[in-house]
Amino acid sequence: MPAEKRYEDIDVLVIGGGLAGVYAAIRAKEAGANRVVQVDKGKVGKTGASCFAAGVMHTYFPDEDDLGDRVKRMTRAQGFLAQQDLMQDHIEQSWDITQEMASLGVEFVRTAEGKLERRAGRGSYPIISFYGPQLMDAMARAAIRKGITQLHRITITDLLTRDGRVTGAIGFNTRDGNLHVFKAGATVIATGNSWYRHFAPGRN
Ligand SMILES: Cc1cc2nc3c(=O)[nH]c(=O)nc-3n(C[C@H](O)[C@H](O)[C@H](O)COP(=O)(O)OP(=O)(O)OC[C@H]3O[C@@H](n4cnc5c(N)ncnc54)[C@H](O)[C@@H]3O)c2cc1C
Repeated sequence: MPAEKRYEDIDVLVIGGGLAGVYAAIRAKEAGANRVVQVDKGKVGKTGASCFAAGVMHTYFPDEDDLGDRVKRMTRAQGFLAQQDLMQDHIEQSWDITQEMASLGVEFVRTAEGKLERRAGRGSYPIISFYGPQLMDAMARAAIRKGITQLHRITITDLLTRDGRVTGAIGFNTRDGNLHVFKAGATVIATGNSWYRHFAPGRN
């Protein structure tokens, strides 16, 4: 008979163990959250699109690149459908985030002098490269080092709410069927975009 497990004292609950979730968990911890718990229906750092990422990042080099030109080229590369203010934020933050990921253990392709190697990418702006599976391995390990609790094989099925406010989530362990109830001060949903499901033939 499935048992129930309750977690009452979570400051930040992160649902999803891909890059977005791991990064959110690390940021929450760095911002002072005491107990950060991350759950994934598979294994944190080992499932989701993040593990399959081919290894291309559009990092902006503030000392070498022209921000306006980069936004223009990326807009063109996205078929003019991109939200430009969000894209500009993303581009501007990409240098610091790349440096932070390197400090957390993510390996990038580098020149003989140790600088990030740049090469031509889509949209004719340069890209840098990382090693797909190593990225998630390094990030998941960095999260553990920072004291984040990672719970694997728990599928979240619903959010808990009180007075219209999210207070946690509920899910079950896909191996033993046990119910898991998470009470949290803040809940971050980082479950990816599931594009493969939306675009699968016969589904809409
Ligand atoms: C083959 C491939 C190559 C790619 N190459 C690149 C590249 O070179 N450069 C680049 O920038 N991007 C690339 N991408 C895109 C990039 O990988 C994704 O945009 C990014 O990894 C998304 O990260 P995420 O954390 O949002 O989602 P994901 O990594 O998908 O993580 C979401 C997680 O949520 C979990 N989850 C979902 N629902 C639940 C639930 N109900 N309960 C518990 N857990 C749940 C999933 O198990 C999963 O682990 C590529 C993608 C693919 C598939």
